Amino acid sequence: MKHFIMFGPPGAGKGTQAAMLVDKFNLRHVSTGDLLRGEIKRETELGLKAKKLIEAGSLVPDEVVEGMIKNEIASHPEVKGFIFDGFPRTLEQAAALDGILAERGEEISGVISIIIDDEMVKARIRHRAEIEDRKDDMDEATVANRIKTYHDKTEPIIDYYKKAGKYNGIDGVGSIDDIFNRICGIIEKL
Ligand code: ADP
Repeated sequence: MKHFIMFGPPGAGKGTQAAMLVDKFNLRHVSTGDLLRGEIKRETELGLKAKKLIEAGSLVPDEVVEGMIKNEIASHPEVKGFIFDGFPRTLEQAAALDGILAERGEEISGVISIIIDDEMVKARIRHRAEIEDRKDDMDEATVANRIKTYHDKTEPIIDYYKKAGKYNGIDGVGSIDDIFNRICGIIEKL
C-alpha cells in the first residue's frame, strides 16, 4: 500500500492534481473538503455545523475530519493506496493519520507540497470563484482567514514530515501539466 498526501495552501491545485494522479497510479482520492461539502449538500447535522465554520474560513474540528478519514479508509479495502487532499491540516490530524495507518501496519509514503505564495493563492481563488460555486471562495475576509489559518495551523505540519523524511516540495507555478509531471517524477521514486 502506498499513501500520499497532497499538501499546500488553499487554491494550490491539490484537488486538480490528485484527480489526475488517481488515474495514473490507481489510487483513491480522499478530499476532506469534498466530503464536507457532501455533508452540507445533504443537510446532515454534521454538514450544518461544518457550513458555518467553512464559510468563516475556519477549520472543522479535528475529531470530525479524523472520523471521516477513518471511515473512508475502512470502507475501501480494495484500493492500492490513498491520496489525501486537504488532510491533514493540523499537527493533531497528522499524528492521528499516522496512528490510523499504523494500526494497519501501513504508513505515508510521501508528502507532496505544492508551493505558491499568498498573492497567487488569492489570484487562484478569485479565478475559481468565477467558475465554481463555493461560498468560501467568494468573500475576501473568508479567503484572508483561510490563508491565516493555513500559516498558523497547517504550515507547522511541514516540519513534522521533514523530520520523518517524507516531505517533498515542488514549485506550484506553471501549467497543470508541468506541475503534474513534477509530481509524477517524485511519486515514481517513492
Ligand atoms: P482549499 O484547499 O481550497 O482550502 P478544501 O476543499 O480542502 O479547500 O477545504 C475547504 C474547507 O473545508 C476548509 O477551509 C475547512 O474549513 C474545511 N476543511 C477541509 N479539510 C479540513 C481538515 N482536514 N480539517 C479541518 N477543516 C477542513
